[in-house]
Amino acid sequence: MSEKKFCVKVYGCQMNVYDADRVRTVLCSRGWQEVEESQADIIMITGCSVRAKAEQKVWSELGLYDVSWKKNQRPLVALTGCIAQRIGEKALSRFPYVRLVAGPRHIGMLPNAIEQIYEHPKSRLNLLDTDPREFHSLNFDSDNITIKRENKFKAYITIAHGCDNFCTYCIVPYVRGRFVSRKPEEIFSEIEMLIKDGVKEITLLGQNVNSYGKDIGLNFAWLLREVSHIEGVKRLRFVTSLPQDFTDDIIDVMASEKNVCPSLNLPIQNGSDRILKLMNRKYSYAEYLEKVKKVREKVPALGLTTDLIVGFPGETEEDFEASLNALREIKFDLVHSAAYSERDGTPAATMPGALPVELRLKRLTELNELQDKITYEINQNLVGKTFEILVDDIAPKGENLLQGRTPSDKVVLFEGKKNLLGEFINVKINSAEAWCLHGVRG
Ligand code: SF4
Repeated sequence: MSEKKFCVKVYGCQMNVYDADRVRTVLCSRGWQEVEESQADIIMITGCSVRAKAEQKVWSELGLYDVSWKKNQRPLVALTGCIAQRIGEKALSRFPYVRLVAGPRHIGMLPNAIEQIYEHPKSRLNLLDTDPREFHSLNFDSDNITIKRENKFKAYITIAHGCDNFCTYCIVPYVRGRFVSRKPEEIFSEIEMLIKDGVKEITLLGQNVNSYGKDIGLNFAWLLREVSHIEGVKRLRFVTSLPQDFTDDIIDVMASEKNVCPSLNLPIQNGSDRILKLMNRKYSYAEYLEKVKKVREKVPALGLTTDLIVGFPGETEEDFEASLNALREIKFDLVHSAAYSERDGTPAATMPGALPVELRLKRLTELNELQDKITYEINQNLVGKTFEILVDDIAPKGENLLQGRTPSDKVVLFEGKKNLLGEFINVKINSAEAWCLHGVRG
């Protein structure tokens, strides 16, 4: 039999990338060959449904295989991830080449299911289910394999799946299911495999990492400390945190363990208490501010980023002004901002007071302009300082230009030879923009 060939296309967040990498790892360990899209027998498309845009992109992507299917009866398509949880059934009935649909909770079943549709090309598999508590984890067939990942020196590792928080705008609890922690021994052994393969920086990943362990009698501060003690973990980060679960004991681990980086993403989502309540975020602006003060006191070199939504239903000019004030007062290093977009099936989608899209976008532009200025000023204050960076890649533009990150997660570009990749070096910052710093070895 000829070699089995597959290709993976990811339209989504880091969790989708991580899930896809695990499937790629297992298939390759079973003798599959990863190839260009045009050569593939099976294409796995996985994606995120948090924003409407990714969903539209996947719909149009699916339509593109029609020509090749009519000509060659190839490729077969496996649609997976949270996007499949939402649109899988429709896709299965609309496109004859969609042969497998599986949600994020069925990742452990995917390698076998992909092999099944390859062996029996007429079969159609629908692994979607409605039990939000069910989770099939994907373990590797051996611990002697190379885990596929985007970057040679940095790796993400999911520590928990799903979410129980039900923020009113968010689709995640419906498509990714209820919160399930991974067993610590699985996490530790995967990290050890990554370290053996040259990884120096680990990022613990989850929709809300701070809830880790609540379902298995453990807690996140414990996990963070344990991972920081694994030999070879030179740098350790985590995303994403939920303000109400970001506790003092986590701050203590950040302050006391040298390899836990001083970087934190703490999504505020809005500066107005009224909107936070409508969003079902269970903290007030004052409580959020208190957490920020505490963590900055104990971790002074902290790089702080946040997520913020503008244009939520019913957001007044006064509410919006509260978000702008939050930016002025807190001075985040970076804000991942978004204009509110309705997701069917969430409570916010049917709330009164929907704002015109133009107004949402206008507010988004205003907020981004303010934040760009703040980030620029913060970065200007770093000129003249020296940081240890992990050189993690070649910069997208420029001859001999390398890139790395400071412990606080700022991107630094500098001139250097490729043999520095994977090394920790000191770089003196000599200029700064809003999006990156420039430096020289020193
Ligand atoms: S915490 Fe809220 S925003 Fe984050 S994944 Fe859970 S429901 Fe969504």
